[in-house]
Amino acid sequence: IQVGRTGTLAPVARLAPVTVGGVVVENVTLHNEDYIKGIGNKGEVLREGRDIRIGDTVVIQRAGDVIPQIVDVVLDKRPKSAREFHFPKKCPCPLHTDVVRGETAAGEEESRARCSGEFACPYQKIEHLKLFVSRRAFDIDGLGEKQLQYFFDEGWVKEPADIFTLEKRNSKLKLEEIEGYGATSVRNLFGAIESRRRIALERFIYALGMRHVGETTALALARGYGSWEAFHDACLKVAKGDEEAMAEMDALDQIGDTVIKSIADYFGESHNRGIVERLTGEVEIIDAEKPKSNSAVAGKTVVFTGSLEKMTRDEAKATAERLGAKVSGSVSKKTDLVVAGPGAGSKLAEANKHGVKVLTEDEWLKLIGE
Ligand SMILES: [Zn+2]
Repeated sequence: IQVGRTGTLAPVARLAPVTVGGVVVENVTLHNEDYIKGIGNKGEVLREGRDIRIGDTVVIQRAGDVIPQIVDVVLDKRPKSAREFHFPKKCPCPLHTDVVRGETAAGEEESRARCSGEFACPYQKIEHLKLFVSRRAFDIDGLGEKQLQYFFDEGWVKEPADIFTLEKRNSKLKLEEIEGYGATSVRNLFGAIESRRRIALERFIYALGMRHVGETTALALARGYGSWEAFHDACLKVAKGDEEAMAEMDALDQIGDTVIKSIADYFGESHNRGIVERLTGEVEIIDAEKPKSNSAVAGKTVVFTGSLEKMTRDEAKATAERLGAKVSGSVSKKTDLVVAGPGAGSKLAEANKHGVKVLTEDEWLKLIGE
């Protein structure tokens, strides 16, 4: 079993070396647990009666640089001693955390098993850290992937909280003595880290790197709970299977079973809870603004199209959302308003087709009272 960077457990078969197209092949991918059993990702039988067992003789194919795969099992050559492979229930990482099979965004069981250790799993740590410092999360200048990898390899930054204690520890670390760093860049880095000690709740939630919790979902959760305390409390309850807390989360716009299960998995893992606790000890999380429900556009679905002259598209979207509107990228019968600037094309035509109300930018600003 190989653990991938996102925590997926990939089974690989070791073969007696064989030459295929001039290349010696010793490893073939087995994709996932179902594949070994001969079941495809839609539940169909891949190779009738031909599950793959330890000791089997197999037909393989190799295409380009991708890792070769098994096409068939030669049943005539299956020895009596051939054994079934039992997929591990624990991750091979030192944490031995439970292996889980999550759900895809469509609500189907994922074909690949993965470690539930997330930030705590040594195989997954660096990927989680990269997301943590990325532009849409903590957005820390001067801590790009290369630097982060270096700090990680040196053991200086093992989890998010460590980033915020770098300066305190620098009398020992002496970052300014690293080749290519220097006093100025170290000062700049510490400045950049300090400036991110205060962070908006939605960014903070996104930065935790929970599966299926992208920016939009993080924003919905932040708006729904308002404060970190309220959200964190709900997460801990959801992880314990508290039905009332689950129902409350489920009632939020854009939040469904997949997200709730993922949050439960994350906060159900004690290593993750520890990482979050140490991190919240270092940062200040700013409450989210609750959308105003008494605005003229609350609950309406709005589409912006064409060029806007008094605001950027992002500003327009943020304002509309703050006022409780839902901003969509495409026009349908469900659209309430289309704000069309110069150069509006197909979306304006769609709006006219469906009889959706169309406003100019100025009319929109007047409507929302700005
Ligand atoms: Zn692991």
